Amino acid sequence: MTHSFYDEGMLVTVMTTQPIDRTLDYKSPEGGCHLGAFVEVPLGPRKVLGVIWGKGTGDYEYSKIRTISRVFDVVPMRLELRDFLEKAAAYTLTPMPAMLRLATRAPRLTDPPSTQRVYRRANGEPTRMTEARARVLTFLNKSGDLTFTLKELTKHSDVTSSVVTGLVKQGIIAEENCPRDLPFQSMNLDLPCKKLTAEQFDAAEKLTAAVASGNYGTTLLRGVTGSGKTEVYLEAIATAMRLGRQALVLLPEIALTGEFLTRIERRFGAQPAEWHSGATMTERRRIWRMVGQGKAQLVVGARSALFLPYQNLGLIVVDEEHDTSYKQEDGVIYNARDMAVLRASQVRAHVVLASATPSLESWANVQNGKYTRLDLNARFGMATLPEIKTIDMRNEKLPANRWISQALQNKINARLNVREQVMLFLNRRGFAPITLCRACGFQIGCDQCDARMVEHRFSKSLMCHQCGDTKPMIEKCPSCETVGRMAPIGPGVERLGEEAAKLFPDAMVTVLSSDMYKTARALKEKIEEIASGGADIIIGTQLIAKGHNFPNLTLVGVIDADLGLQGSDLRAAERTFQLMRQVAGRAGRAKKTGSALIQTYQPEHPVIRAILAGEEEEFWRAEAFEREQAGVPPYGRMAGIILSGSNVTQVFEAANMLAKNIFALTRIDAKVFGPAPAPVARIRGRHRVRLLVKAGKGVALQSALVEWVSQVRLKGDARLSIDIDPQSFY
Ligand code: ADP
Ligand code: ZN
Repeated sequence: MTHSFYDEGMLVTVMTTQPIDRTLDYKSPEGGCHLGAFVEVPLGPRKVLGVIWGKGTGDYEYSKIRTISRVFDVVPMRLELRDFLEKAAAYTLTPMPAMLRLATRAPRLTDPPSTQRVYRRANGEPTRMTEARARVLTFLNKSGDLTFTLKELTKHSDVTSSVVTGLVKQGIIAEENCPRDLPFQSMNLDLPCKKLTAEQFDAAEKLTAAVASGNYGTTLLRGVTGSGKTEVYLEAIATAMRLGRQALVLLPEIALTGEFLTRIERRFGAQPAEWHSGATMTERRRIWRMVGQGKAQLVVGARSALFLPYQNLGLIVVDEEHDTSYKQEDGVIYNARDMAVLRASQVRAHVVLASATPSLESWANVQNGKYTRLDLNARFGMATLPEIKTIDMRNEKLPANRWISQALQNKINARLNVREQVMLFLNRRGFAPITLCRACGFQIGCDQCDARMVEHRFSKSLMCHQCGDTKPMIEKCPSCETVGRMAPIGPGVERLGEEAAKLFPDAMVTVLSSDMYKTARALKEKIEEIASGGADIIIGTQLIAKGHNFPNLTLVGVIDADLGLQGSDLRAAERTFQLMRQVAGRAGRAKKTGSALIQTYQPEHPVIRAILAGEEEEFWRAEAFEREQAGVPPYGRMAGIILSGSNVTQVFEAANMLAKNIFALTRIDAKVFGPAPAPVARIRGRHRVRLLVKAGKGVALQSALVEWVSQVRLKGDARLSIDIDPQSFY
């Protein structure tokens, strides 16, 4: 690594976080600055954030060049992080400033380090001892030299703040100012791990060796739900930390439950840094700085934690690696799983991709030798895999507006009678997907989008799932003006909740859907409440399929397994397979045996049969064969192009122009499909037109795309976005 330093007055070039796709020259300020330093620079009338990118170009007249206004008191950006940002930008075709914004998303990064008041034990005894005083002092005596904020101290010793201030006045407790951005408590690496089973031990040994090698590598850790994948990768984390390196665990945001953090705390005696959208501003600022100084050994976070300025990253775990939420779809479009691999390869770190149902991409990367694979086949302890069966809905004569079949109802009753929990899965938010006028057939749609409004009875409104717009529920048809004939059509989780409450009047029914909880924290609390027995029947969307441990849950009912099989998404089969296996895996995680019942109108469908048979390898091979034949990912490359704008003619003109001038693409043998209106042809008033590019595996797709799209001049508010390796096709 070079340690370039630029003396005062030297020309430097700065990458700012402003939407300008090049660096700008400035003069180094008084005291000079380091390569990578975070700085504030004047830009027009404003002051903006930037990073020293290198020596100035000298393309401008020296006297006209302005001087850097401030150098921030934080660790300069390491070259390896910059390399990562540059490679990620090139891969995802994202302008560098947007990439830099991801890496500087620490609130008040630019503030000077602030301080806070802390308390610790001084000498002496109080003139008068009370019970409350004794509690504080006992607590502090036990804590040695540690300091606490007033809030922590009053909480831990269960006293009011006046008790503490009383002791401060007498000099029994010392009050000091210390920096707010405190290092994270260090992890205790001497605590014992659980006694691993032979299979787990073997996997842990191999992972540990891989981490200790100090080389880049990726391991797919495949193991059925409950097989102890977490226990195994905790050992890899311990190894990385023993070697003085930092570790990062990425979780699908919503799986960041207290349960996982408690496990970390039990294993290492301290809390990790927790990076996600629910973390407070002060906490984010603290994490960003401490990670940069190596004073946070373990980070648990959502996908954006990849862009933190690690001092010495040695391991990245991507838990539930198949999860679609790793793909960020707006703003910078990237897949956190793939970026984790790139990030690790820059710093010779190891990657663990953990899943019970790996993505076909990762499975294929094992087949072609890029990744190593480790398998855990047995569930830990007594727990056995649930038995999965179908209910053939063609034989169930269900009355109108009912979705729980008699067969499922009987099984649910049997479980409720022995006081076990039941989960019903339906991947549809809200009360009903369609609201229709029984008099004229009119369906309520969103004004801004080409989508139906979904009734949410819980919040007494109609909601568009594309743009989030809401309207109050209506009595009168907007089209024929008949009153009182608006009717819900089809089921959503809320409606299923009503049905369950009627069928099982004595059971506590809880509906779990992301839109029903205002904050991630509220949702987490609800999940914990359910896990400790706060519900008999849990009804939910996709959300409940993810990694939660409900020990008393023994039956899972899938209301409509056919939902995911419709549509033309190339991953429909893979997704349904993963989702069904994940949902089924929620049953019987503790000592009791679980079962899963899948309601379907097509029990003969190959995907449904594969789910029942549990022949995973066979499913992957068949799926891989089909994709290879079709030349689609992971055996070919794809890019989705979306042109959008308020003027539909302009948008189509631009798309047609691109479709006609494909020289740059034919040179790499790529094919273009479209233009066609996107499946959701309008969002927030913007018309959307799609083009799809398909290319062979080894071609330079990105540079061809850049050359291709640069031909088009976008008019008005038209915009073009490119999604490399698209996951969804809406
Ligand atoms: P996975 O991550 O594969 O779903 P977990 O690591 O969460 O599996 O393990 C499932 C449950 O079994 C957890 O409660 C875990 O603590 C427990 N468990 C797994 N392996 C062991 C072990 N060797 N000793 C004790 N408990 C274990
Ligand atoms: Zn809308």
